[in-house]
Amino acid sequence: MRYIGTRNKEMTASASEAILRGICPDGGLYIPEKIPQLTTEPEALLQMDYRTLAYEILRQYLDFTPEELHACIDGAYDSKFDTPEIVPLVKKGDALYLELFHGRTLAFKDMALSILPYLMKTAAKKQGLSEEIVILTATSGDTGKAALEGFANVDGVKIMVFFPEDGVSPVQKLQMTTQQGDNTRVIGIHGNFDDAQTAVKKIFTDAQLAEELAQKGYRFSSANSINIGRLLPQVVYYYWAYIQAVKMGEIKWGDALDFTVPTGNFGDILAGWYAAQMGLPAGHFVCASNDNKVLYDFFCTGEYNKNRPFHVTVSPSMDILVSSNLERLLCHMGGQERTKQQMGALQSEGKYQSDMTNTNISGAYATEEETFSAIRDVFQKTGYVMDTHTAVAYAAYKKYQAESQSNVPMVIVSTASPYKFTKDVMTAIDAKYKDGDAFALMQELERLSGVKIPTPIQGLQQREIRHKIVCEKQNIAQTVRDWLL
Ligand SMILES: *Cc1c(COP(=O)(O)O)cnc(C)c1O
Repeated sequence: MRYIGTRNKEMTASASEAILRGICPDGGLYIPEKIPQLTTEPEALLQMDYRTLAYEILRQYLDFTPEELHACIDGAYDSKFDTPEIVPLVKKGDALYLELFHGRTLAFKDMALSILPYLMKTAAKKQGLSEEIVILTATSGDTGKAALEGFANVDGVKIMVFFPEDGVSPVQKLQMTTQQGDNTRVIGIHGNFDDAQTAVKKIFTDAQLAEELAQKGYRFSSANSINIGRLLPQVVYYYWAYIQAVKMGEIKWGDALDFTVPTGNFGDILAGWYAAQMGLPAGHFVCASNDNKVLYDFFCTGEYNKNRPFHVTVSPSMDILVSSNLERLLCHMGGQERTKQQMGALQSEGKYQSDMTNTNISGAYATEEETFSAIRDVFQKTGYVMDTHTAVAYAAYKKYQAESQSNVPMVIVSTASPYKFTKDVMTAIDAKYKDGDAFALMQELERLSGVKIPTPIQGLQQREIRHKIVCEKQNIAQTVRDWLL
């Protein structure tokens, strides 16, 4: 299996090389030259536990030996997850919820970032790499913590995370600023996620800085979903969801199953699209946005236009105007030459045109008010408490359903635990909580939902804050130099 660049198909790499580089030297992203077909019999898939399924899927994409890949998977999907199923599919009311938040940082980012350090170490060994790897990560809140947790105290790796100082929830911020591990640095920036992501992408293609670092024995890589090593592990849980839905009697093998995915950088939903290309009989994908509905407009009109106000919402991990992974879909659909032009136009004019009418993806979005109503309604009807991102997806699903009149069963991809966004979740349930303290409200959430406060955030507010640096967005490269050179 070869990987090629989205802006130039001559930019080839093996899986190991693509994972180590994170991004193509020309700024494009790596995609598989050809998406593999999964030919395993349904009867066999239905017998598999999560780790076995992960092996069956990932081996199609990676140049690892069976021993290497098993070691990665067994290291990642173990008792760090608070349930042996790893990813439960639960039915509440009129929807199925794919709970991707049972890992250490309570967000779906754990699904990929628990395994990425293993993939990277294995790739480094296979490539005979001698340099120390420096992971640079821009985060809208969840990636940062999941990456820190995955890479803290990993030998031969340093990790630096940039987050928007005023754009994350109190729990998200404390989770990051209290991070342990001498190989970690966490930096707040005055700016939003797009500023952080743009600055980090620029550092990756800065040949001068790469040279200075190489002399010190360092090389950069990325833990953002621009890294193909982030995307591939996410394909697994779409198959997993389908298998569980069959086992629960919701569908028969071969029937359609739809997914609504709360979307930011377009990584999660793209993994679903990959699963469908591999042969999973998935039906329709609803790409759910919050008020930053650049993707909704794109799927409606064919124009991607980031020239618009940026909204800070209650679903901060979706507050994104430049969805990096859309570049991969554009390339699979339209080829490298077209994609290169489109990315050039995005850079110079902030917009581009594309025709997306042939995909099984459509957009829907939820306002802040609709997000709050979704949390309240589902809680009142079923007793189930969703986080704000999952609630955007639920509201989007309801709009899609009203419009399409579809009665295909729907999986709501549930990306975070409500405990990560306690204050907004509780306020949605009852406005009387709006002035409460986010940490005090956890007890109340525990009482209402009957779901215990997850162990990883118990006592969070008593932990020592170890990371206090805040910088201007134009100084991000400088903070990297300050730490490493
Ligand atoms: C990252 C994240 C998303 C968006 O996922 P993408 O892959 O960036 O589209 C949605 N919800 C939560 C809770 C997240 O952390």
